[in-house]
Amino acid sequence: SNQDNKPHVAVLANSGLGHVIPLLEFSKRLVIDHGFRVTFLVVATIDLTPVQDQLLNAPGLPRDLQVLGLPAVDTASIVPEDSRILTRICLTVEASLKSLKAMLIELSSPRVLVVDLFCTQAFDVAGELSIPTFSFFSMSASMLAFSLYMPTLDREVMGEMVDLPGPVWVPGCQPVRLEDLLDQVKDRKNEEYLWFLYHVSRLPMAAGIIINTWEGLEPGSLRALREDSFYRQVPVPPVHAIGPLVHEDGDAEGLRSTDAECLAWLDRQPEESVVLVSLGSGGTLTREQQVEMAWGLELSQQRFLWIVRKPTDASASAAFFNVGSDEEDDPTKYLPLGFLEKTREVGMVVPSWAAQVAILSHPSVGAFLSHCGWNSSIESLAKGVPMIAWPLYAEQRMNAAMLAEDVGVAIRPSVEEGGKVVGRKEIERVVRAVVTGEEGKRMRRRAREIRDSSVESLSHGGSSQASLAAVCEDWKTKSRGCEGELYA
Ligand code: UDP
Repeated sequence: SNQDNKPHVAVLANSGLGHVIPLLEFSKRLVIDHGFRVTFLVVATIDLTPVQDQLLNAPGLPRDLQVLGLPAVDTASIVPEDSRILTRICLTVEASLKSLKAMLIELSSPRVLVVDLFCTQAFDVAGELSIPTFSFFSMSASMLAFSLYMPTLDREVMGEMVDLPGPVWVPGCQPVRLEDLLDQVKDRKNEEYLWFLYHVSRLPMAAGIIINTWEGLEPGSLRALREDSFYRQVPVPPVHAIGPLVHEDGDAEGLRSTDAECLAWLDRQPEESVVLVSLGSGGTLTREQQVEMAWGLELSQQRFLWIVRKPTDASASAAFFNVGSDEEDDPTKYLPLGFLEKTREVGMVVPSWAAQVAILSHPSVGAFLSHCGWNSSIESLAKGVPMIAWPLYAEQRMNAAMLAEDVGVAIRPSVEEGGKVVGRKEIERVVRAVVTGEEGKRMRRRAREIRDSSVESLSHGGSSQASLAAVCEDWKTKSRGCEGELYA
């Protein structure tokens, strides 16, 4: 078929994997299921990590999905060295988006632009070209509610939010305990707070908000976003819940040899016996915590597959900008002496990165010790796997609270009294509880119910399938912005 006849959508993502992964999957759905041609624009830095490179240059992507890097930004020259993670992302995006307008013109104005939460400058640029712009929100609906309420909190709270006398109340959200607040709002004097506030304040400029969740998982928050008087008066643009978007590792990206080894190892383990331990694209443990983790896993005497990284005391998201790099390659250099030998019969250790979705899909996996990033959380739920919640950074503590307390699919280990670590005994306890205990059975039943609701939402006539189909229909009938002709 002539590709020029296909309606053209541009998608814009910052290079963080938690954004690239779901947006790439979203783009695939547009191309494969809905007949669009998609240009996937990614904010490029001059130093793409091996994992980013593998995803974006995958040979198996559909022909009508073209990945283009915006002119690469040299982060070292624009980002002060002590910047926190979100500041770093936002400064890079801001520099990179200087070339967005020219890029969109060169693409002869796609009819719609879809952007992630930290690329909201695109609303202005695309507005000048009359290209309707949608936001893709890659966190929970409850977090979307929190984000849309942020400008109000910013006005009404005088001091630091962490000094409030009790939990933070937000319409459409369970009350947020102060210790569960996302990192970005804990210190209002930090630039990271201002960046977060800037982007969430601009969300209402979107023509619509596409969100990676589904009615069966977050009915209350989704209803509040549509019906609560606060959100109606903002007003919040239409919210389209189209999740869960779960990429299948291996179909396009191709499995690496370590992935094949993991899957072969899982083939030899009993059903639902293995705990997957994985902390997202950036998560790292402190040295002290890593030692406790190793001991806890060993003491539990349960099977485990641990995607392990070099520990560091510097930050809980230290691997964010170098995941998959060589320094992670040899776990004997950073795991407790003798650990690998002692656990050889029950454990498999993979450095840095593995095909998480393929692993979660394997019948031998019985639990997931996860940092509760939103993508990881919904991948676990879509596969019916109960969780041990191990939040580290960003909004993960809010996700952990929701998964443990509202959804009932996760157990949350407690930190040792007065200490900063979760002790080995506690790790032993939670691992046993989920894999062999009654609590684990209950959580697994609940996780399966949620999985079934996700399957239903994506099947023909289901809520997520219908929302995406309606959005696509709307995009197909949208007339092209006249700028396409002007600049042609
Ligand atoms: N992931 C993976 N292999 C790994 C670690 C992470 O495939 O070893 C994927 C995971 O499946 C998810 C994404 O990376 O799709 C991480 O996104 P999430 O929102 O969970 O966390 P973030 O990395 O943004 O903190």
